[in-house]
Amino acid sequence: MNDAVKLRESIGAKVQRLAWTSEVANSLKEEIDGLQAIGSLIIPLEPGGWWHQYVCQQHHTELLFDPLAADATEFHCPHGCVVEGAEHRGAWLVYKHQLLARIALQAAAVYAGLRDYTYAELSKRLIVEYAAQFPLYPVHPDAQPWMLKGRAFHQALTESIWSTTLIRAYVLLVDEGIVFSSDEQQKVDKFLHLLEESMRAYRRILIHERNNAENNYTAWLNASLACVYAARGERHELEALIEAEGGFRHHLSIGVKQDQIEFEGSTYYHVFVLRAYLIFAEMAKRCEKDLYACEGSQGQSMRGMVEALAELADDQGVLPALHDGPMERLPYAREIAEVAELGLNHYAVEGLVPILREAYRQMGSADGSRCGLEALLYGATPSLEITPMALMKPRGSKLWPASGFVVGRHADNPLSFLVDFGEHGGAHGHLDKLHVTLMHKRQTLTPDFGVVPYGSTLRPWFSETASHNTVSLGGKSQDEHTGRCLRFEQTEATTYAWLQSDTAYFGCRLNRHLLLTSDWLLDWFEVTLTSEDPQSIEWWMHPIAAPQSKQLVELSFADKAIYPPIHIQPNLPELPIVGRFSPEESNVCVKYLLKNGDQLHQTALAHPGQELLTVRTPGHSIDPSVPLTALLHRQFSKYASFIHVYRVGAGAMLAYCFADNRLGITADGRTTTVQLIPEQGLLIV
Ligand SMILES: [Zn+2]
Ligand SMILES: [Zn+2]
Repeated sequence: MNDAVKLRESIGAKVQRLAWTSEVANSLKEEIDGLQAIGSLIIPLEPGGWWHQYVCQQHHTELLFDPLAADATEFHCPHGCVVEGAEHRGAWLVYKHQLLARIALQAAAVYAGLRDYTYAELSKRLIVEYAAQFPLYPVHPDAQPWMLKGRAFHQALTESIWSTTLIRAYVLLVDEGIVFSSDEQQKVDKFLHLLEESMRAYRRILIHERNNAENNYTAWLNASLACVYAARGERHELEALIEAEGGFRHHLSIGVKQDQIEFEGSTYYHVFVLRAYLIFAEMAKRCEKDLYACEGSQGQSMRGMVEALAELADDQGVLPALHDGPMERLPYAREIAEVAELGLNHYAVEGLVPILREAYRQMGSADGSRCGLEALLYGATPSLEITPMALMKPRGSKLWPASGFVVGRHADNPLSFLVDFGEHGGAHGHLDKLHVTLMHKRQTLTPDFGVVPYGSTLRPWFSETASHNTVSLGGKSQDEHTGRCLRFEQTEATTYAWLQSDTAYFGCRLNRHLLLTSDWLLDWFEVTLTSEDPQSIEWWMHPIAAPQSKQLVELSFADKAIYPPIHIQPNLPELPIVGRFSPEESNVCVKYLLKNGDQLHQTALAHPGQELLTVRTPGHSIDPSVPLTALLHRQFSKYASFIHVYRVGAGAMLAYCFADNRLGITADGRTTTVQLIPEQGLLIV
């Protein structure tokens, strides 16, 4: 079957063609049956609030949502807390409304796949009931002042996303020949009319009054409107929206940088905006307008955006949580599955397969095979096996010069790195310049931790410098700023990246040099202060596996006077210093035990005047209540250089010569000497 035919293929035809689909369709059907049987598929009359408030203020974990519950007034945290209150209930209602819209689409898909009319009826009932309910929702009085106020939700944004799911269900039913009575159709038409008015009004405010066309909201307002136009077959309106100010093409030009990453530098918002574009394109296609090859003014494209995901993911297919966004969350996994399936269909980007497998694992598949609604709707290939061809083509290193990311990879080294030096990223940025994520092919050791739901009081921790793998001064976070890449060189033997930043702090220059060979990764971080006084210069590293070392001594209560806890800011918890390394021959050796028993070794050079400590910090954003142990390498000085080498198998030994700034790295009996020369960077000598 050629690609053009496959893209127009109905779900029924897909169920005939692909072996995995009937099992998926049947399990979706059973899920609906379970919800029906327990009486959970009742539309609440109250509008939804703001989902970010669905968080436990004690543990900072997202609260649990039980899809089987018809209604709820108390809410449970994974650690057993029970919370109540209007904000939590408003947030719960968001999940509930999203679930019901999703079930409308799921039931339509089950009907399309299995031809059981009961499910078409259910889908239609939910659509018509929502259509009838929508005019009764007031424009939300409880929304936060900065929000574009919605009707069915606090936020117009949530409303636009929800509406696309509902309208996708509607057009799928119509495609499948389901007839709406004139009364039902009137309700749907009124809903579409009101929705159109709302979305147009929101666009006017956002694009013309707030001058904020590049906002990720705009992509969703456009997607929602495109759904309305496609549902009504209004091709001219849809075409006008493609070309309008803040429309599809314009947003692609201003909301995405020329290196194909969404302008906020956040993986989550990249996926978020890409998904809105793909919905727009799906609706345009219904109006015989093909946008899949559409480009922004600097070549930005949906293909480029899915390719960026394939390049950014680690070797297990996990996307890094750059800037704001969750590390792992079921609704996000579904969004990833949707854009990756569509990317695979439309652009045949093989590198999306590991991402899909990981998304399906997070959605509950034990082996990463397809499951869930996204598979049935958007999956179109026979399997998600990684082909031997794909395994033969390891990904190389990559620089995103406009967004400010570098990935370093070497075919023979299981270690790789990702560094962030780019623009702050607006409201969703973190104070994280020159942050490095260290990855092993089986598990990322020092991931970016993303962020907890925004309603948590711990949210600021996740954007502070000290929660990233970079350098802070005096416990204070960096200023919002942009770093630069002075050098990016990839040869067969090495990848070298030199990143610099001189506006993180007044009178301070940061230089980070990363050199990856087939055998090890060298991280050489130099900090130079031009200010009068020395300061505490702090190099942070946040592994998700506990650091192990014979040289590590736990600190007792009595040591607290010498090693007082670290204060980041008044509203955040103190960070206790819990251990201290005693260097031998200036080397500190640390080991990390990864999944599957893999070991990763770190050798740190402890210069005179430096100390290496372990610090207890909040956990990552999935569960901040499970603390982690960070490494803090620090020096009170006007100059510091922090030198670390990472290796698998066994640790390297380091010998440093002050006179000429040379470092000997010895591993398996072989010594490589590198030299850092101020104007030239790192050289292998
Ligand atoms: Zn709790
Ligand atoms: Zn971050």
